[in-house]
This record gives sequence, C-alpha cells and structure tokens, in this order.
Amino acid sequence: MRISLIVFLVLITSCKQPDSDWIDRTKHEGLFDISMSGSFETYCSEQNPEDIKNTVDNLKQAKEYFDKTFREDLNFAVLFVDNPNWNKYAFTPPPGMPQAHHQGNMVLGLGNSVMATRALQGLKQAPDSKLDILKQHFGEELNLDLFFRDALSLHELGHLYQFYKTGKGSQRHWLNEIFGNLCQVAAAKNLATQDVFNRMDVYQLFLIDSNQWGELKFKSLNQFEKDYFEVFKQGRNYGWYQSQFYLKAKKLYSKFGDEFLNEFRDFLIDINPEKVGKLSDKELKELMTKTFSNEVVEILEWKHDS
Ligand SMILES: [Zn+2]
Repeated sequence: MRISLIVFLVLITSCKQPDSDWIDRTKHEGLFDISMSGSFETYCSEQNPEDIKNTVDNLKQAKEYFDKTFREDLNFAVLFVDNPNWNKYAFTPPPGMPQAHHQGNMVLGLGNSVMATRALQGLKQAPDSKLDILKQHFGEELNLDLFFRDALSLHELGHLYQFYKTGKGSQRHWLNEIFGNLCQVAAAKNLATQDVFNRMDVYQLFLIDSNQWGELKFKSLNQFEKDYFEVFKQGRNYGWYQSQFYLKAKKLYSKFGDEFLNEFRDFLIDINPEKVGKLSDKELKELMTKTFSNEVVEILEWKHDS
C-alpha cells in the first residue's frame, strides 16, 4: 500500500503539466493593453493601431487549429511594437523581424517595419515580370509586412506551442526551425482563405528562384548550430536557411498532414537536452530513424554540406 502510494505520488509529480499562466508579464511594461482578441492577449506600442486586424484574426484561427492539433488551450500574448520601441521588447533587431520569447510572448512589427522596408529594397533588381507576380499578392506598393508580420506570426506561434512544453531546452536549432516552418505551413493551409499561404509561398519561391542571397558564408547544419547567432545576425544567410527549412516543411506537411505536427512536437519534447542530455549527431540520427518513417528521415536529410 505504502509503495503504491509513493509510486502514485511520483507519477503525479512527473506528469505535472506546465503552468498555464506562463506568460512573462514584465515584457508588457510600457505597452497598451489593446484587448483585440478574446482568445489571447494583445499589447501594442500604440493605443489605436491600424492594420493589425487581419493579423489578429489569422492568429485567432491559427490558435484554434493548434489547440485542436496539439490538444492544448494555450495562453499567449502578442506584442505589436513599432520601429522606435523595438529593442525594448524584442531580443534582436531589425524591427519587424518576428520572434517568440520562451515564456509566452511573441513580438511582431507594427506599421511599415524596418525588416519589410529592407527586404523591399532587395527587390530593386528584380525583373518586372517577377515583380508583377509579387504585386498580385502584396499589392502595388509591395507591402512585405504581409509576409513578415502575418505569415511569420504563424511560425512564431508554433514556437510558443513548442516552448510551452520544452522551455528553453533545445537539442538542435535546425529541428526547432523545421518545426516552426511546419507550423507556419500547416496553420496557413488551415486559414479560412489561402491568401496568407499563397503570399508566403510566392515570396519564398521568388527568393529561392532568384537566389536573392548572393554568396553565402554558411551552408551546413553544423554551422547553423555552432554559429547560430552569427548566422542570425547575417540576415541574408539566415533567410537562406529558413527557405530550405520551408521547402522541407512544405513537403512534410503535404505528405503527413496535421497529426505529424504533434508527432514532431513530441519528438522535440522527448529529445529535450534537459531530459536526455546533449545528443551526438549519430545518436540523434538513430532516434530519428526509430521515431519517424524512412521517408521523413530522408526529407530531413541536409544536402548542402559541401
Ligand atoms: Zn523559428
């Protein structure tokens, strides 16, 4: 009796769910609580922001989709921050580069972000025929915040569903980013219209097709792990990695569908270094082969090491 009680108590403690109020509210200081959604918290550096209704509405639909897929009811907060206030709330510039903090907050740009403005300058050399296609999706003015804020907010929301279960524990940056892209693609596919999906797809394929990155310093997965912050700072190189992850995520989602998101998140939870320690590449590969089908492992294989 005594032993079974102890076993029971141990089981209860080890199954303890993460705290549902996990949001770090110190990050909201100085922002207006704009209460734009009943299903998650919204804060903003302006009291009456314009042009974020669609973003909020997409995130609301994405939350419904992720809650159902991951069997959660996740609490989170979205911070809309303009260019001058960016560095107070985000962990890295440039303003408008969406990011998720480990404790329940996502930071998105507001208005015309520096990120989107810079990306727009990068399009100057593009031929008219390509620009015309982009204009069909991003408007005559080529509003790229529709990509960086709207489309990528779905990616960041995916990370929050991950961080909620893994905390800061991360085995590999590249696996996190495949997961982020997988969430981005899946959520966009499940929105009421395909506008957001079409925009991200047209823009990513345009970047890949026209090789917008030029010469790249880093191309291997090892470099992505080892020099992550260096790659991150070199926005172009980071963009290239993300576009490769995007292609893989699109393939994975089209072949394995919604439930695969859950399997992938479970994998990230199971390989959390806080639980199993740092795995070698060989150990990781073995676990991947044990967990996923050959087809998945093959899609995840990196072919840019040389
Ligand atoms: Zn990411």
